[in-house]
Amino acid sequence: MHFSIASGVILSLLLAISSSIFSLSLILWIISLPIMAGLIMATIYRARVLIRSNVIHKRLNADKEFIRESNKMQIILLCIIVLTFLDILLSVFIPKLSLLIGTVRNVFLALFYVKPAANLIINYDRELTSFKIPFRLDEVSDIENVKFGYEKISDVDREVLLSCQSCGEIGACDEGCPAVAAGRLLSPRFVVRTVSLNSNNPGFELAIKLEHQAWACTTCGMCVYSCPVRVNHLDVIYGVRRALVAQGRVDRKIADVLLSISQYGNTMSSPNVGRHDWLRELGVKTISENPDAEYLLWVGCMGSFDGRAREIIKAFVDILRKAGMLDKIAILGDEETCCGDPARRLGEESRFQEIVLKNKQLFEKYGIKKLITICPHGYNVFKNEYKEFGINLDVYHHVQIIQQLIEEGRIVVKRGDTVFTIHDPCYLARYNRVVKPQRRILVKLGDIKEPPRHGERTFCCGAGGANYWYDVPEEKRISHIRFEELVSTGASTIVTLCPFCNAMLLDAKRTKESSVEVKDIAEVVLESLKEERLIENTPGDKGASSKIS
Ligand code: SF4
Ligand code: SF4
Repeated sequence: MHFSIASGVILSLLLAISSSIFSLSLILWIISLPIMAGLIMATIYRARVLIRSNVIHKRLNADKEFIRESNKMQIILLCIIVLTFLDILLSVFIPKLSLLIGTVRNVFLALFYVKPAANLIINYDRELTSFKIPFRLDEVSDIENVKFGYEKISDVDREVLLSCQSCGEIGACDEGCPAVAAGRLLSPRFVVRTVSLNSNNPGFELAIKLEHQAWACTTCGMCVYSCPVRVNHLDVIYGVRRALVAQGRVDRKIADVLLSISQYGNTMSSPNVGRHDWLRELGVKTISENPDAEYLLWVGCMGSFDGRAREIIKAFVDILRKAGMLDKIAILGDEETCCGDPARRLGEESRFQEIVLKNKQLFEKYGIKKLITICPHGYNVFKNEYKEFGINLDVYHHVQIIQQLIEEGRIVVKRGDTVFTIHDPCYLARYNRVVKPQRRILVKLGDIKEPPRHGERTFCCGAGGANYWYDVPEEKRISHIRFEELVSTGASTIVTLCPFCNAMLLDAKRTKESSVEVKDIAEVVLESLKEERLIENTPGDKGASSKIS
């Protein structure tokens, strides 16, 4: 759609310039026929978006003023498309009328699309992983006067305000949002337009207005990823969550997770002592026992305590053992705590930073430079967010390690007749663009059938943004929508790359009594390993040295 509009506008300008040379205009007009077809499609699409957004407004109980402003912007965009179409259509036959239409369209463009264009230029290279940090705990001298979040409009950072004001109601964010698809009380478009429409009202109670919307978000990043003018909805959502946490406006389950993190140092309300004893029984040493280990295996809260996630860790450890890599890794044992991701996602920024600074000391104490994790949330936070605190680690997701082991011939897989489909985790595929290793592995194991939304455009499982730990009212579960989409590929095995995704999709499988398997990439690789292995070591063996670096 955006291509049709942009190229339509450019072509109409070219047609206006060449109007004095009939033959040239005619050639350009013929070239523009596919663009005109695209503009017709864009008109139909926009009309559909207009209808859908009014359904969303009804669900969110939007006030009349909001609805009027939203419809106005959308109708202007619709007019721009229709006028561009008419401009091109008439350019050769009635050039004067075409010129008039083009001028009116250009006035609309100038009036309503200067800010979106400016935002696009300013934030052109802004990564999805870049994050507005409200304060630095290690730099704050007077914590009493720190602004924790966006309680009122006056608290919203200026660049966030300007970014929200550039929203042109295009609606690409709503289109891909899992919360909207599930009928939750959230629309990312509504979030940024609420900021924009109230930007001249400093006392506007933003946190109260957006309370339910902020908690309904899975932070999957699809809204930011798909916004053609680079608005960052998540800056507002995190700002509101921080303000709500600071005011204590959280439900019991959210309060319980935050309490668990502060009391136990993990999200599972379990004592840390002995969290890795089961792994040590499998021959994995702690970093104190194996100080020369090349990699720290960050087991994570799920991997340490959750029975199903432990099976994933175990499968990965078995792969490492077969590759002769066991002595290359070590764990933190009782010293491992939370990575901080749930605290940051929930808006508990101070707790997050405390955890980071504590982990920083631990990493420095053991000289840790390389880290492996099975969790995309841990992967993202260690890779992108610890950097803000001077912690630069080489971070690997276990799929990257497995891919290298296969490609270096350290493990040999056997092809079977299984048909796989891949559920790409948002925090791995969209946030960090890790999409190839899983495909390069699975293509050696069997056939792959991709769901419509895959790779960087994947659809969330519903657990992100710490949603895993609390309930959000919804018409249909996000995990069920995703499970149905994956099953509709006809694959017999859904491959996951995240313990949370695995848990969500397994839950959907149970509810739907489906025979489709849900397995982690480590499990399917382990099952496919050929009997005759190149290198094998048992607990205690040194194994061959790794080429992975
Ligand atoms: S981050 Fe995902 S769930 Fe949250 S508003 Fe954006 S698209 Fe919706
Ligand atoms: S749990 Fe998995 S799919 Fe869901 S948000 Fe996290 S990475 Fe995304």
